[in-house]
Amino acid sequence: MPIISFFFIIFEPMVKSINWKKSIFLVYYFLVICPFIRSQSLPIIQNQANWQQEVDYTIDVKLDVQRQMLLGYEEFIYTNHSPQTLHEIYIHLWPNAYKNNKTALVKQALENKNTNLYFAEKRERAWIDSLKPSINGKPVELIFDEHIDYAKISLPEPLLPGQQMVFASPFRVKIPSKVFSRMGYEDSIFCITQWYPKPAVYDVNGWNPMPYLDQGEFYSEFGRFNVSIEVPKDFVVAATGVLQNKVELNWLNEKIANYKLENPETNAYKKLTYTQDRIHDFAWFASKKFKVAKSKVALPSGKQVETWFYAQKSYRESLETGLSYANEAVEFYSKKVGEYPYAIASVVITPLEAGGGMEYPTITNCQSIDKTTIVHEIGHNWFYGILGSNERNYPWMDESINTYYENRNDNQLAKASKDLNKSKELNLNLNSINSPSFLYKWIARKNNDQAGNLNSTAYTDMNYGGIVYAKNPLSFAYLEAYMGTDHFDKMMQAYFQKWKFKHPLPNDFFVHLYSNGKDSLQWFEKELLNGTSKQDIAIKGNQKGLKLYNKGNAKLPMPLSLKNGDSTLETLWFKENTNLKWADFTSWNSLKDVAKDSINVSVELKYAPLDIYPQNNRLFYAKKNKKLEFTPLFNFENNQSNAIFWMPLYAWNTYNRSMLGITFYNSILPENKNEINFSPLYSFHSNTLNGYLDLKHRFYPNHPRFKNIALGLKMKSYGHNDISENNAAAQYSKFEPYLETEIKPSYARSNSYQKLTASWALLNNNMPGYHFLNWNSKSMGLVHLNYTYERNVCFYPVKAQIDYQFNTNKGNINKLGLSIEQGIEFEKRKKTIKLRFFGGLSFQQFNNNDMSAQTAYFMAGATTGINDYLFDESLMGRSETAIEKGNIFSKQIILNEAAFRANAFLGSSDKWMTALNLTLPIPKIKLPMGLYFDMNYVPLKQTEIATNTISYKNQLNYVGGIYFSIYKDIFAIYFPIEAFCSNELRNYWNLNKQSAFFEKANFVLNLKEINPVKLIRNFSIN
Ligand SMILES: [Zn+2]
Repeated sequence: MPIISFFFIIFEPMVKSINWKKSIFLVYYFLVICPFIRSQSLPIIQNQANWQQEVDYTIDVKLDVQRQMLLGYEEFIYTNHSPQTLHEIYIHLWPNAYKNNKTALVKQALENKNTNLYFAEKRERAWIDSLKPSINGKPVELIFDEHIDYAKISLPEPLLPGQQMVFASPFRVKIPSKVFSRMGYEDSIFCITQWYPKPAVYDVNGWNPMPYLDQGEFYSEFGRFNVSIEVPKDFVVAATGVLQNKVELNWLNEKIANYKLENPETNAYKKLTYTQDRIHDFAWFASKKFKVAKSKVALPSGKQVETWFYAQKSYRESLETGLSYANEAVEFYSKKVGEYPYAIASVVITPLEAGGGMEYPTITNCQSIDKTTIVHEIGHNWFYGILGSNERNYPWMDESINTYYENRNDNQLAKASKDLNKSKELNLNLNSINSPSFLYKWIARKNNDQAGNLNSTAYTDMNYGGIVYAKNPLSFAYLEAYMGTDHFDKMMQAYFQKWKFKHPLPNDFFVHLYSNGKDSLQWFEKELLNGTSKQDIAIKGNQKGLKLYNKGNAKLPMPLSLKNGDSTLETLWFKENTNLKWADFTSWNSLKDVAKDSINVSVELKYAPLDIYPQNNRLFYAKKNKKLEFTPLFNFENNQSNAIFWMPLYAWNTYNRSMLGITFYNSILPENKNEINFSPLYSFHSNTLNGYLDLKHRFYPNHPRFKNIALGLKMKSYGHNDISENNAAAQYSKFEPYLETEIKPSYARSNSYQKLTASWALLNNNMPGYHFLNWNSKSMGLVHLNYTYERNVCFYPVKAQIDYQFNTNKGNINKLGLSIEQGIEFEKRKKTIKLRFFGGLSFQQFNNNDMSAQTAYFMAGATTGINDYLFDESLMGRSETAIEKGNIFSKQIILNEAAFRANAFLGSSDKWMTALNLTLPIPKIKLPMGLYFDMNYVPLKQTEIATNTISYKNQLNYVGGIYFSIYKDIFAIYFPIEAFCSNELRNYWNLNKQSAFFEKANFVLNLKEINPVKLIRNFSIN
């Protein structure tokens, strides 16, 4: 067989020819040196200039309802306030982001595993065309680079500082047939956003053109908008700015007064004009079915702001509720940040794919009437609308600051600390996992977090939520706690006044912050925004004195509160490693007559919301501090003590039969640096103590490539064979210290995963009467090294493993395996063709029949429980053999090494093996079934017992058949078809009288993969 031999030909020399020194250097280079080279980039100016460009628009647009198109004409006057002469201008043409599958929008969506737009049909897509641009009346050309959603125009004449030019062009926009991102026609609503040609910002860094993205927002020039929209007369329009048509306004007021008023069906059109000054974008929404409500907010200065609410399929009451949220937000932000400068603020409920809401000047759209979303989106009028920062490059300047205020309006931290403290109660503490501090802990404890000051496009899907919307807002809460609320508010109000209607850059904020701080606040930028250092404050001590120290690596001022029960008397800020006395608190004297039992010092969540292990944040004066708490059943951790959860456990296998026990575990979510899972189980059938133990301590090195290093110990003991009349079970035991490390990909969004594991498995499978510590010469000490690589990308996922095993007890197992599996996804990723290669090499051959090594030979037939000599799998009948009919567990196979999917003994080898596996789902049917084909080529070991001579015979084995997958890769049944099987396999079936179709069937049940803790932890938001 040429193909198979070919694999062996390249595999063996590859192993022999490895230059180990060079390899070690290469590994070091890619893991350690490379990331530093990658992270260097060009410096960007982070202080805004004292000038900014101005763009004043006049746009006429008509909505063609039938064809789902916009027919428009646009003119804008561009004023060059910069000191530079401009020779070009960049224009955003964002509807083109939906045009084909090569756009940045589609690429980003695929990286985030979202294929909605990728699989969209042509008629559902969108684009902008019919452009005939001119500048000052002279026709100009659009010049495209790799992005079709923005273009460069070379100016016919240079635009000198202080000069103006007029851009004009007709345009036509095809609207997406559903909302793939934030624009489209869905649910009988036209969502018209990012729809017109719009110049990129020219600032101190030059031009800022950017393709349209979901994950990453906008940056546009301030100016005046005058937009006329033509729609059929029965449409209600919700738009940016102030409506200028009296007749329309009267009609809307009538609709508000008479909620049930239906719109008259008509083909006639109406023209509505909206104007607004000092804004940088314009969005509008139109539907025949919009219900309308409006209200007013009076600001402290006496100024009145009109609030409008649009939604369809809603009761009047819910519209009123929505309005009350909008009013609350307008009032809150006006008071805390600065007065709302516009006359109107609107909310419209629409379908939306990119997030739960989206901000546009004076109007925001939300998916539902939800308070958090509405307050957040209205808040963007301040952080995005009025302070027009570059949202794409610095999401912390709008999303994070805005979310901080939204949390504050909702009293988020107070609520979260209440929830996190009560989780020792029996009810499942779901509110607490919804809080930003929990989300941050979830990511940060795994060491998956990224810095807070990155470009939106640099974040993983998970971190865009967990850092931009959770950690950074908490960093601002930290700053508020440290500065004091009044001082912080004054600082932010002054920042708002200084930069309103401008484009502040990061340094503009920092310069302002530092000039307003009483002392150095550099830690805010250095430790909280720029890096991924973690805080873990701990208190130690007793009545004589206490010590406040930081077990994490973030160098931050630390808050400590003196408390009487739950009420805070005083909070002071300290440096790391401060030694304190209780009397250092000035309110200490007031506690003289109080029962000392309730007095404690605490690092409170509202002051230090980023502490990733808050369980060591409290010390009682006269009471013992509870460090560990036993809690029944399942719950999430609480903030006050380390919890050990327990629950009764039942297990079953063929040899021990029913087992009863208890399982103890300390952590489900978030990951914990110390983890325990202990499940002792007693069998009344075999009278043995069985069970499982996994103890683990993780280190999180401050290194760009090592996510974590875990040191652990696994122990396991169950029956593995019935050996006597009275059914006493032979027990196996495993004692396995291990070291494992997860390696970060070279860039966060790469979707690749790498893990290295090294363990030393001490294995005993003795006769009855054997006990756990009975290690002897028959035991196996298996050094096991494993490297796993996964590339979890859309369409072509890859999995690869290198595995090495060596028996330190006898040296009789010494082998290396390599497997590579390539997936090819089809039918919109619902089905995957899998092509797998395995190559194995044994460095040790034997002259005699070493029984204990034989289970580790490369198997030509299926791997079954007997060959699971590492006792790695969770099997219900590991010693059942195929010959015993009617024994369901004898049909279970394990897909490792050659992964041959037919249970038959076809010989084995201690030399080498190559194998190929193909899994081919049947297209166009709903059932999860398909064809499979496995083959291997192997020098089978043959021993002539009489003469004790050993020979090898190369043999090709193959099996083909039909499979039926019951649950993904975890549970599947395989039915071999004789016509597709090798002679040796057919002979085996004949010899063992397995002729019926179902007798040849086998199944895979991968119980090891069903680990609820792992499944919950690896859950990601997408
Ligand atoms: Zn937002």
